[in-house]
This record gives sequence, C-alpha cells and structure tokens, in this order.
Amino acid sequence: MAFLKPTWVVTGVLTIDLDAVQADGVKGFIFDLDNTIMAPNSALLENDIDAWLKKIHALGFKTIVVSNNPLSFYTKKAEEILKIPVIGNAGKPRRRMLRKALELLGLQADQVAVVGDRPLTDIWGGQRLGCKTILVDPLTKTQENRVVQVLRKIERQFIASSHRQVQHPHPHHSQKRDP
Ligand SMILES: [Mg+2]
Repeated sequence: MAFLKPTWVVTGVLTIDLDAVQADGVKGFIFDLDNTIMAPNSALLENDIDAWLKKIHALGFKTIVVSNNPLSFYTKKAEEILKIPVIGNAGKPRRRMLRKALELLGLQADQVAVVGDRPLTDIWGGQRLGCKTILVDPLTKTQENRVVQVLRKIERQFIASSHRQVQHPHPHHSQKRDP
C-alpha cells in the first residue's frame, strides 16, 4: 500500500496537531464518521470529541462529515447530534461526494484535511482529490485500549496495596510504591 501517504498519522482526532495543520494551510476538515468521530452506528458523541469539535470551530476551522454509511436515518441522526452537515452513502474513495463537501466548505482541496480511519476509503479518496489526509486509529480500538489501560492500573494498585500490607505496615514506607 505504498501509494497511500497520509499527510499525518495520529492516534485519534484529539491528538491532531492543530498548529501544524494550520501552518500547512488547512482551514477545514472533512471527517469520516464511523470509528473516526463516533463509534460505528452508535449515534453517541463522546464528551471529549464534542468538546474538541467545539474548540476547532471556535478556532475558525470549517467542518463537514462524509460517510460511506448507507443508512440515511443514522447519518441524519448523526447530523443532529454533531451539528455538522453529514453526507452519507458517499462511496469513498470515489471523489464525487468529497468534491461536493469541498464546495459546501467553500475551500480548495489543498486547504482541507480528510480525516479517517480507513486507508483505502478515507485516505485514498482524500489523496486522489489533492487534499491533505490524516489517518486515525479506529475509535473503538482506542476505547478498548483505554479500558485495558484502566484495568491494568486498577490491577497494579491492587497488587501494590496488598503487598504493602504484608511487607510495609508503616505508611511512610509505602509512599514510594504508589504509581
Ligand atoms: Mg470509518
């Protein structure tokens, strides 16, 4: 897949370097929907992503969503929740709906970053159109990772505290052991 060259690769929309994209002339984003800004078919917008979208709007970035999801009731619902126009059933990597999104944003291709989790649809489509592209990890994978991280933290705390009870009955001995 050497023909695919995302301009940026990040763990998720929250870690997009807004200064860097702005410095590169990006004035707007075309977002993929499922697994990029929402868990697939969930119609649930996480608080941190909601806050991030508000932040980028306040910074003056224009936004639109272009999704391959064919379920119009769902993309309509997503549009209501996101308060961003959503073009569904887009057929990425075909360029037609991405071009329409550029028109709606009122921006040139090189002023827009296409953001998505799928190299062969989001990144390829954006790249063919001459947009900048940002590949993100699938959102549900990141969420799973977060759950695993939390579980590991809890597990580690549990081991440390039981260890402390056995070997370090005095609180001042145990302080260093806290993660
Ligand atoms: Mg996706």
